[in-house]
Amino acid sequence: MHNQIITVLKNTGLEILTSVKHILAEAKLNVVIVPHENPDGDAIGSAIGLAEILANFGHRVNIVTPNDYPEFLKWFASKVNIINYDIDKKAGKSAFKDADILIIVDFNEASRAGKLGKKLLEFSKIKILIDHHPYPTNFCDFMISEPEYSSTAELIFDIINKIGLEKHITQNAAEALYTGILTDTGAFNHNTSRPNTFKVVSELMKFGIDTEKIQSGVYHNFSANRMKLLGYCLNEKMVVYPEYRAAVITISKEELKQFDFKSGDTEGFVNYPLSIKNIVFSVLFIEKENLVKASFRSKGNFPTNKFAKEHFNGGGHLNASGGESKLSLKATSEKFTQLLPEFKHLLLDTKI
Ligand code: 5GP
Ligand code: MN
Repeated sequence: MHNQIITVLKNTGLEILTSVKHILAEAKLNVVIVPHENPDGDAIGSAIGLAEILANFGHRVNIVTPNDYPEFLKWFASKVNIINYDIDKKAGKSAFKDADILIIVDFNEASRAGKLGKKLLEFSKIKILIDHHPYPTNFCDFMISEPEYSSTAELIFDIINKIGLEKHITQNAAEALYTGILTDTGAFNHNTSRPNTFKVVSELMKFGIDTEKIQSGVYHNFSANRMKLLGYCLNEKMVVYPEYRAAVITISKEELKQFDFKSGDTEGFVNYPLSIKNIVFSVLFIEKENLVKASFRSKGNFPTNKFAKEHFNGGGHLNASGGESKLSLKATSEKFTQLLPEFKHLLLDTKI
């Protein structure tokens, strides 16, 4: 019979879970939860979901984000205080000062918290990491790092059950965790080969979550300008290299301005070229104030994280990574095309 799925955390020993259980279940604490810089749906969904559950149990919880996050993630119903460190350093510092415990969600090294990175390293009380990115830096007292998981949100659901806090899950918490799974799988398009992902989703459904409301909140909430920017990028800015099975889109600051760019507008653009038959590697370069932000996506076994780490000072998952370049947009794009021959064999050998 295969109707029983036993969830095993591959990297996390029982002693870690037992310690975390004791820490979180024995006293009322001041907890600060930190997602990564430029938080995405999984970072924010994980932070809010976990915060709700811990607050329901009786902890005093603050979320401190390194910077702002997109409008399409601001529809959550949550009682938890969210401090944007970029805007309110005083409140952020005070939350850190009062904290008994830090919980780091959805990232694997302190530098991914941007301006908060130093504060994370300096924090001298208990630090717990909950994450699904490969190759974590060992900077927390308790590292729960499980790269097999689709999302940190899916992992949080399992941990909450393993440490006996499941009776504090509410609809609001479940909706936040569901959003993390939804967005990190590209609406169940990738990273969905493990039965556990759907098992967790079905468990979350039992809390009465409104999946259509979430779908609308996340994916049907764009401005007309964002849709026009997408059309412009695909029509005029996408360059396809069929001989390398790759495609690249570059967007300048000027072009963003033309379409009245708002934070989050370019989210998901990098995925579109992967819908072209035979394309396995897609890249998006966006010109920011002092650097060019790079996003990498792939299909099959082409390692975007290796590419990002070696050439664009970044990292991430096998199929989804990010990085940056200090060169101009034009020079960055030229650097990329010059790298393609080096990766030709790997790209042509990629099985999809
Ligand atoms: P995105 O392209 O959506 O910004 O990021 C995709 C993935 O790569 C995410 O899992 C994100 O955490 C990771 N990532 C994005 N930018 C960076 C970066 O500069 N450094 C590292 N190590 N990972 C990144
Ligand atoms: Mn994630």
